[in-house]
Amino acid sequence: MRVLLLGGTTEAAAMARALAGAGVEALYSYAGRTSTPRPQPRPLRIGGFGGAEGLAACLREDGFTHVIDATHPFAATISRNAVAACAAAGVPLLAVERPAWTPAPGDDWTPVPDLAAAAAALPEAPANVFLAIGRQNLDVFKGLPHRWLLRFVDPEPAPLPRATRIVDRGPFTQAGDMALMRDHGIRIVVAKNAGGEGARAKLDAARALRLPVVMVQRPAIPARETVASVAQAMAWLHQAPPAERGV
Ligand code: NAP
Repeated sequence: MRVLLLGGTTEAAAMARALAGAGVEALYSYAGRTSTPRPQPRPLRIGGFGGAEGLAACLREDGFTHVIDATHPFAATISRNAVAACAAAGVPLLAVERPAWTPAPGDDWTPVPDLAAAAAALPEAPANVFLAIGRQNLDVFKGLPHRWLLRFVDPEPAPLPRATRIVDRGPFTQAGDMALMRDHGIRIVVAKNAGGEGARAKLDAARALRLPVVMVQRPAIPARETVASVAQAMAWLHQAPPAERGV
């Protein structure tokens, strides 16, 4: 058995620990977005594969028997590529996907399909907005009159005018995020429905402060076998038929 683990998330780190604990041969793959990727208990590779075709070639050439896609729910391109590449190479694929967040009593969420719709959902009058969506694809917010609070993993420059950028890496706490939002006079939060515990703090903080949240829904990914936990993924590994070479 040789597993390709597509990572960059808390779930992928937990998956890598489980694979290491079980003595399963695996390669952890990072896209290379952060300059300080966390070390993992399995060997690493960093960087893209060159689309679905490159990934399929990698699966064939490096003798992978299984692929586990534990990427972020908003990393849709690599997940779509994994579906296509695994089909082409005849390698079984499993996604480990955290459940989406659902609103609780007291939440004031406006669901939107994508970031452009999130930008359109913001008020016309200038406001202090916590744009808690990472550092990619912020262009759609250019030209809006707001003051932005941005939180990045790396000390990258803020790509928006009137922005305050802070550098921090989760998991975050409700108390910490409440203090942050108070300090910056935040009136609206924009979030992606990533799910999971570490990034939920901003939503709990927004509810406690009675702030509205513009919630970007997850992108569509083709149907694939999916589990919600590392334990289920380990069980799948020992049940899934190995790669059908030559397909
Ligand atoms: P994406 O749009 O789905 O992927 C863009 C390209 O990056 C892919 O086509 C692939 O390049 C490469 N790539 C992505 N993940 C990879 C991986 N694990 N290993 C090797 N190559 C990978 O992804 P993204 O939204 O830019 O996210 C990049 C990474 O950051 C993902 O691994 C994801 O788990 C992590 N992440 C993303 C978010 C988010 O909000 N999007 C949040 C936290 C963490 P090729 O086509 O050349 O193979």
